[in-house]
Amino acid sequence: MSIKKVKTFKGGHNFGNLLGSPENEVRELELPNKVFIPLKYNHIREVPAIVEVGDKVKTGQIIGIDDKNESSPVHASISGYVTDICPVNLSGEEAKAVVIESDGKDDWTSSYESKSNFESISKEELNRILYFSGSGFPARVNEMDNLIIRAVYTQPYCLNNEIIIGKDIDNFVTGLCILKKALNPKTKIHIGIDNRDENLIKILYKSLDWLEIHPLKPKYPQDHPVILKKTLLDESFSSSSTVIIDTQSVIHAYYSVVEGKPVVGKIIVLGGHGITERGFVKIRIGTPLICILSNKNIKDKRCIVGGIITGKECNDLSIPVTRDIDSLSILKENHNREFLSFIRPGVRRDSFSTSFLSSIFPKIKKRFDTNEKGEHRPCIYCNYCEEACPVELMPYLLNNYVTHDMLDEAREMGLMTCIDCGLCTYVCPCKIPLMENIQSGKEIINENNQENS
Ligand code: SF4
Ligand code: SF4
Repeated sequence: MSIKKVKTFKGGHNFGNLLGSPENEVRELELPNKVFIPLKYNHIREVPAIVEVGDKVKTGQIIGIDDKNESSPVHASISGYVTDICPVNLSGEEAKAVVIESDGKDDWTSSYESKSNFESISKEELNRILYFSGSGFPARVNEMDNLIIRAVYTQPYCLNNEIIIGKDIDNFVTGLCILKKALNPKTKIHIGIDNRDENLIKILYKSLDWLEIHPLKPKYPQDHPVILKKTLLDESFSSSSTVIIDTQSVIHAYYSVVEGKPVVGKIIVLGGHGITERGFVKIRIGTPLICILSNKNIKDKRCIVGGIITGKECNDLSIPVTRDIDSLSILKENHNREFLSFIRPGVRRDSFSTSFLSSIFPKIKKRFDTNEKGEHRPCIYCNYCEEACPVELMPYLLNNYVTHDMLDEAREMGLMTCIDCGLCTYVCPCKIPLMENIQSGKEIINENNQENS
């Protein structure tokens, strides 16, 4: 329909050019010998397994599904034999998983037929295929006002459009047409896209006259659902029925419908200066993370699963890749104290303040390590946390209220609207764990609410 002018939001931070960034190429990981496929994704309720230990399964076969067809079905990501159904650790959370040992053949099956001419099939049939393929497309399409495609990535060491869409551009456009047909005609489809991807923006503009294209500055946390919706539609997160999906889901829609291939894999990013094989890896769901690394020794390194700012530190890389995991970052631990760090010019220092030379030499790669700011010190009221906060809170004040048990005052100052982006903790020169303290305040309030209801 139109290309909107470049948008952004107040606050945020551009991490820019970092040491340890991945090489821009995709490698396909060899088929694993064994996968652990969780029966739950997106922290939504677990689905029951419909296979038993000893069953032979094919790649793409449904192995878990709920009776009401509400949660996405779970598929076998390799062919072989079910050897166990047991709990696995999912980086802090436990879920039941189906364990499959490979037969080395990668024999495929599907619970529906491929439809190369998707135009000829009904909206209901398209929705049925999208659901059974596990593409992550929501079931209640008739109630949706807006569908937003998230095509901007802003955390350090993240995916990008060239990697996900790149050579698959025609399939991406077809995937968008499939979604358009599957939706209610009144539903508007928007894409929030990195404004540097000019070629992709031009192709989308020429190919799809119904698509609302919103070029966005790639500033963290522009891709957070709350910030994305506010920037694109100028609405709060709960004000209309809007669903946000990512670009991989659009590509999956194409492969599911046109090629009859359910979702059994994904691309994840491997970044950080603690490893040499930095890049993008095509991997089957359920593959243990450790299988990606050639050097499996992670001693004296910090492994972070999920985005590096909001992800979780993880010492056990036997956890499987799930539909929710997009990245694995490995950083060398740095416990060294920097002598007189405040008088160093900081050519390689990533900082929110403009007082380091890195702000006038953006092309020099910046260091990103585990000892970014030295030791914990008292607040110096520099105000950086407030300037960076994308939802316009005063993190230092919320931190004071929470740590002094003044939760009513914290709530009045907007504590519950914090989106856990972690930027306040990152920019604080005194290394105060602002987000962590704010999160603990929110947890106490939620627990009190539950007890009183
Ligand atoms: S974690 Fe919360 S308070 Fe801190 S910057 Fe993000 S939204 Fe603001
Ligand atoms: S960034 Fe840290 S030091 Fe600066 S005002 Fe916020 S809490 Fe205080």
